[in-house]
Amino acid sequence: MKIAICASEVVPFAKTGGLADVAGALPLELELLNQEVIIIMPRYKAIQEPKFSIQRLKLDISYSVIGKNIKVYFIENDQYFKRDGLYGDKTGDFKDNLDRFSYYSRRTLELLKEINFRADIIHCHDWQSALIPIYLKTLYIDNPFYQNIKTIFTIHNIGYQGLFSKDEFPKLGIDSKFFNMEMLEFYDKVNLLKGGIVFSDIINTVSPTYSREIQTKEFGYGLEGVLAKRKRDVFGILNGLDYSIWNPKTDKFIIKNYSLQNLKDKYKNKEDLQRICKLPAKIDMPFFGIVSRLAEQKGFDILADAIEKICNMDLQLVILGTGDLKYHVILENIVKKYPKIISLNLKFDDKLAHKIYAGSDIFLMPSKYEPCGLGQLISMSYGTIPLVFKTGGLADTVTENDGFVFDKYKKEDLIKTIDKAIKAFKNKKKWLGLIQKAMQNNFSWRESAKEYVSLYEKARSR
Ligand code: ADP
Repeated sequence: MKIAICASEVVPFAKTGGLADVAGALPLELELLNQEVIIIMPRYKAIQEPKFSIQRLKLDISYSVIGKNIKVYFIENDQYFKRDGLYGDKTGDFKDNLDRFSYYSRRTLELLKEINFRADIIHCHDWQSALIPIYLKTLYIDNPFYQNIKTIFTIHNIGYQGLFSKDEFPKLGIDSKFFNMEMLEFYDKVNLLKGGIVFSDIINTVSPTYSREIQTKEFGYGLEGVLAKRKRDVFGILNGLDYSIWNPKTDKFIIKNYSLQNLKDKYKNKEDLQRICKLPAKIDMPFFGIVSRLAEQKGFDILADAIEKICNMDLQLVILGTGDLKYHVILENIVKKYPKIISLNLKFDDKLAHKIYAGSDIFLMPSKYEPCGLGQLISMSYGTIPLVFKTGGLADTVTENDGFVFDKYKKEDLIKTIDKAIKAFKNKKKWLGLIQKAMQNNFSWRESAKEYVSLYEKARSR
């Protein structure tokens, strides 16, 4: 099959979250399954030589290659993409995001024709590329080149919908009749994610549990009704993990590589992390790690409520993340009070993330909701035991055999579970058992990619 993956961030070129991991790893695995894949994304300011090997195709299109021969095409437009940040800056979302991503979507469809890539499948991700299926069934509906293309739309997080004022609708260039409650309108606003759901042939999300959850009022963020109408076409496929990046045996960022057979070297990484974090070098102290966006979704509301109590427990904690200013302030204040307990790193830092996955004992991920979550998969690969709330992809991947799971989203339950983890950590035999189970898991992309191929086939047969 010919497959075009359209995503606004792709590892290794640009990343703010799990979407980039997926958009970078799935194509590699699809190629190994003999599929013909290309990727199309915006060319942001940071995508430059010599960091990446980039070639020019046209005045406004360049490309790089990943895998054996997967071309990653970059849509260039200095006005829209040559700036710091992908979707916004400290002050919030960029004001011209609708212009930016509608431009990207249209240019993507034009590019397919220019390079004569007759895609069987266009696989779009999240609101930033949701306009592609919308344009296909509106602006391009009669254009012969695009006739047999089927679209898959993956929702990575239904909390981010691409909402814009209805005054911006005319900029999309499609007939105003599409601004109605069955299509792009959502409480008097333009909702691009909703459009993606309505106009794509198949919709999926990144874990089976989350695909069911988003069809409920509690998790649907107002789109549960639209999804219910498409029930027959909604699927869930768990994300895989790219073990060429997230592997303690080969990780170039960590001070000492290790494996299940050589676990004592994991503790060299713990020492290294304690040193970097300027925390007391105590090998027997349970060391908790967090690598996360600082957002309510990631559990920071109950975590902020519980943090004082947590700091009085027998543990150390390193936090790496950026996000809501509110949590920056709360955590900055708490670290002033407990500098020997917490290390706070308010930034995006890939290298430090690797060191945390390797060097900590327990990975804290109490997300309120979690479409799939990569942190828990990564941490398990490093023998760092995840502590999670039972929701979405966390419920699908972590069990009591390889982690700690709590099922009431309350700060008391979080604290209780942290306490349970601390006690378990002190029981060396039990802890080793948890590490073994965690590291023996296999969340590779191979199985997930096969499921995507079946989904593509399903779309083609519609
Ligand atoms: P999200 O909802 O943010 O996509 P995921 O768990 O699916 O959450 O993926 C998050 C990815 O981003 C993981 O690879 C994680 O290690 C990485 N990440 C998150 N915050 C940071 C940070 N501050 N620095 C480095 N990596 C980060």
